[in-house]
Amino acid sequence: MGDTKMHELSVCLALMEQVRKVAVEHDARRVDKIYLRIGPLSGIEASLLKNAFPIAATGTVAEDAILIIEKSEIVVRCTRCDAESTVTPNNLLCRQCGDFRTRLISGDAMLLERLELDIARTPTILGAELGEAVPAPT
Ligand SMILES: [Zn+2]
Repeated sequence: MGDTKMHELSVCLALMEQVRKVAVEHDARRVDKIYLRIGPLSGIEASLLKNAFPIAATGTVAEDAILIIEKSEIVVRCTRCDAESTVTPNNLLCRQCGDFRTRLISGDAMLLERLELDIARTPTILGAELGEAVPAPT
């Protein structure tokens, strides 16, 4: 059990690094929301990840961010009839022809889907860059 928690924490720390990079790229002061998609076959427990998040996020731009986790679908492609099917974790058979020789297309990964950022840009700085005064709002 202790190992599992360690696993989620290291996943969370890796996620924080990814979030930090995006935030820096976009000049964000703060990350408001983090949208994740977790595949049911990824081995990552959403509830454990949520528990690990505050520890991993402390002192980062995402300290006050809300973590929103959705489950992604499991999709397989059949090696016999080439059909793609959405399946369940306990039944990965092709839904078209019933063959067991399917290949996993998605459902075994964690995806950082979207970030909501608070971006620091003030009209004063923009006006100075343009060499013009910013008109006062009427
Ligand atoms: Zn098939």
